[in-house]
Amino acid sequence: MTLITIITLLTLTVSYALLFDRETKNSLYHIDHLQGNLYNERLLPTTEHFTNRGSVAIPDLDAIKDKWSGNSIEPKYWGERVPGVMNRMDTDERVIALTFDACGGVYGSGYDEKLINFLRKEEIPATLFINARWIKENKEVFLELSNDSLFQIENHGTEHLPLSLKGGTAWGIMGTTGVEEVIREVMGNQELIYSLTGNVPNYYRSGTAYYDEIAVEIVGDLGLTVVNYDILGDAGATYNSTQVRNALLNANPGSIALLHMNQPASGTAVGVMEAIPLLREQGFTFVTLSEFDLTE
Ligand SMILES: [Zn+2]
Repeated sequence: MTLITIITLLTLTVSYALLFDRETKNSLYHIDHLQGNLYNERLLPTTEHFTNRGSVAIPDLDAIKDKWSGNSIEPKYWGERVPGVMNRMDTDERVIALTFDACGGVYGSGYDEKLINFLRKEEIPATLFINARWIKENKEVFLELSNDSLFQIENHGTEHLPLSLKGGTAWGIMGTTGVEEVIREVMGNQELIYSLTGNVPNYYRSGTAYYDEIAVEIVGDLGLTVVNYDILGDAGATYNSTQVRNALLNANPGSIALLHMNQPASGTAVGVMEAIPLLREQGFTFVTLSEFDLTE
């Protein structure tokens, strides 16, 4: 090997390393970058954040980072039902909140148009938890959904990660590993949704719906409430239509059902279409999450 070959190879390796590093940083919502935008005077002139829904306070990311970065902070719980996660609406009224996740990623970026068309035709309001990866793959549809007053758009994470302070895993996916990653996972998508719609989501559901209780508290500091479910509507879009229908028929007053709008080949749409008339016969009506106080 000649000296020139060696030098060329070294130069190429270093350039690729630099390029890769830069791309990695750009592909994630870096905290510095995030703060730059959230505190950008043009977008957000004061500590009140004016949105189409009213104003919300801007979270102080540095203060939140400081609060939760000590090594002595040890989460005690890991799962879908940890303290602080809301699973139902606090009411005896016969109301159900249908929530549909759009997860994004290689196998999760489909759009269940049949389902959405049915909800529109029947005028059934729904809360849509949408991941940043899905938004990027379906931008036109996302804008159309966010302009439809029937639907409330909420935050389903940036990279679809279980939300953990110390790297908990769920379904084989490793979660976030520290306060900075928690902030990035939540606020990356928060900022994306704000930049496209002028709205700031109030509710958060992580990819996989797993958390530890400290991550849930951090989400609270960021100005969002963590919402899971009491009705497992389609088990990650693996149920057939009969299973989806039967799951929904178990609803109670104030139930929150977790379903998916990103798997058009699943049984979800037909199951929902079969369940809705039966639930209406039982006196249920359908609402979005923001219409009621939530409870664990
Ligand atoms: Zn998901």
